[in-house]
Amino acid sequence: MHRFRSLCVLCLLATTLLSACAHPQPPKDTVFQASTINALMEGVYDGETTFGELRKYGDTGLGTFNALDGEMIALHSRFFQVKSDGTAYPVEDSSRTPFAIMTFFDPDRAFSLEEPLSYKELEERLDRTLPTRNFCYAFRITGSFAMVRTRSVPRQTPPYPRLVEVVKTQPSFDLQNVRGTLIGFRFPEYLRGVNVPGYHFHFLTEDAGRGGHVLDCRLDRVKVEIDDLYRFNMALPTDSGFQRTNLTGTSAADVQKVEK
Ligand code: ZN
Repeated sequence: MHRFRSLCVLCLLATTLLSACAHPQPPKDTVFQASTINALMEGVYDGETTFGELRKYGDTGLGTFNALDGEMIALHSRFFQVKSDGTAYPVEDSSRTPFAIMTFFDPDRAFSLEEPLSYKELEERLDRTLPTRNFCYAFRITGSFAMVRTRSVPRQTPPYPRLVEVVKTQPSFDLQNVRGTLIGFRFPEYLRGVNVPGYHFHFLTEDAGRGGHVLDCRLDRVKVEIDDLYRFNMALPTDSGFQRTNLTGTSAADVQKVEK
């Protein structure tokens, strides 16, 4: 009896030590965000966060690069940079981002769609699927698409123009009959100014060759996966550019122009 009891104590001790030594698990269902959409809208295009650091906050996400050098999409822990020629390139861990959204994608629900839904119809279908409009959500939509219209943004040089000026001449690309993945988020209306209210998707082809920020699409056969996000982790830039920028003057109409 005595020996049995000491074994139990040893086991307990070992378990405690093991759990204390294990790497801390990232909290589930958390969205991490570097900077704010309004800062990006106002031309704060240089951030401090490296992609190496961003990796700690998720395996899936979207964003952009310092100097606004293209659209970023992250899936399965790999980051891609879609430059203004529409081509996707791998990203160095030392590259930096002025704006990014990440999560460890852990779907709460999944279903197939085999209808030729437009982008707007996809948004309406997703809206009907979500339990509430008051959470944040991440989406991974994988399969074949009849069409995906993407855009990217060209690298900027200081003094940086506002984003609404940059997108006036944005190059867009029509990808026809293409396989790939849409990564997206939906943020509630009450987070306006912090992120883009409603849906925001980026696309990457299956061969990781092309992609960008999604302007329009038509589905063919896809699998939709949805991750409900209840926790929000935001890292604000500490540099003087962010500190000096007026973040209260960005109009909802300008965000709509830039993102849709
Ligand atoms: Zn985007």
